[in-house]
Amino acid sequence: MKYDFIIVGAGFAGCVLAERIANDMGKKVLVIEKRKHWGGNCYDMIDSHGILIHNYGPHIFHTIKKNVWNYLTGFTEWYYYQHKVLGYIDGQYVPIPFNLNSLHQSFPKNTAQELEEKLVKKFGMGNKIPILQLKDAGGELKFLADYIYEKVFLNYTMKQWDCKPNEIDESVTGRVPVHISRDDRYFQDIYQGMPSNGYSNIFEKMLSHDNIHLLLNTNASDIIEIRDRDVYMMGEKFGGVFIYTGPIDHLFKYKYGKLPYRSLKLDFEYLPQQQYQPVGTVNYPNDYDFTRITEFKHLTGQKVEGTTILKEYSQPYDPEIKGRDIPYYIISKPENLELYKKYKNEVDRLNKTILVGRLAEYKYYNMDDIIARSLEIFENDIEK
Ligand SMILES: Cc1cc2nc3c(=O)[nH]c(=O)nc-3n(C[C@H](O)[C@H](O)[C@H](O)COP(=O)(O)OP(=O)(O)OC[C@H]3O[C@@H](n4cnc5c(N)ncnc54)[C@H](O)[C@@H]3O)c2cc1C
Repeated sequence: MKYDFIIVGAGFAGCVLAERIANDMGKKVLVIEKRKHWGGNCYDMIDSHGILIHNYGPHIFHTIKKNVWNYLTGFTEWYYYQHKVLGYIDGQYVPIPFNLNSLHQSFPKNTAQELEEKLVKKFGMGNKIPILQLKDAGGELKFLADYIYEKVFLNYTMKQWDCKPNEIDESVTGRVPVHISRDDRYFQDIYQGMPSNGYSNIFEKMLSHDNIHLLLNTNASDIIEIRDRDVYMMGEKFGGVFIYTGPIDHLFKYKYGKLPYRSLKLDFEYLPQQQYQPVGTVNYPNDYDFTRITEFKHLTGQKVEGTTILKEYSQPYDPEIKGRDIPYYIISKPENLELYKKYKNEVDRLNKTILVGRLAEYKYYNMDDIIARSLEIFENDIEK
């Protein structure tokens, strides 16, 4: 088959674009994926105990984007799940993000009431305040800011990123707010849910089109080569559009150096009991080496004997060391973004090449963001 498009990577970015190109334009697409399955980091599967698990860490779908929700609804029905997270702090579970309920659980009644009034007066009910902003507020709220910073944020951040919170970009710290509210849900987005038959089923549907040819177990660097301004596949110049969703530094054989990431060690454990913990995820900022435990049955609503939990340990990334070779989280620091720019400049020189995805753009995307971005690229850069 002669292809109009080659897409590297079968995560959300690659699959949404392949689906749109095949279904909407009737063009032929080759999707190259190095893993033995589609779905990228959103892949899920039934484990040996019959429990639906997320192989690369828990993925909860939430969005305020109606077009993304409608698009995905074309491929799945929804289990209407709204995620809750507790933090294990000083021997008790408190709602995370830290909110007014957490405040009342953590302090004596009168102190909590006083602090609540001050918080509401300063920031307003319903607002989310990044922890560093609360810390900067000082004055009467300094005591509370320091408490939350020490107990909830500092050690978790250091475990996760292996550095201090003020060394991290605000887009990351802003994701861990203090919520001036009694709403215990982790997200407040209008659309929230889990795909009834899992994420992998969505990808299977997206890719099931005669015009889409999927090559699994294939590292693109074994068959794709960049020469001068063109892309070559198996030695032959490719005349179509090349869409790359893999790591941008890998595309250029790390010629300017490796882009840093954090990786994860994921320990799945089956337990012959109905339930392990009260909610989907419990964070452990201060105790143990893992950052959090997720119990999948809460997320999926699956009715099945026994339960599978996942303990996540943050660790350095190294593409050469097995077990540390999956790049999970970009490290958003100025020097890393500078390095990224060098690779991006190389791509800008190439003919008919599109970069999209968390690895190709060296950017943290939630699932809804990457779906929105892929749909936008399709409409603005491909379909026209
Ligand atoms: C632990 C964790 C939890 C998350 N939880 C949530 C959540 O709860 N909610 C949410 O909205 N988002 C969540 N996300 C974000 C979500 O995973 C991303 O939005 C999504 O995976 C981005 O899709 P993508 O296609 O850009 O990348 P990916 O899913 O990583 O897909 C890229 C694909 O490219 C393939 N590839 C790479 N290099 C090559 C190569 N050389 N040749 C061939 N193929 C290659 C990879 O194998 C992979 O399949 C989470 C992320 C992490 C790390």
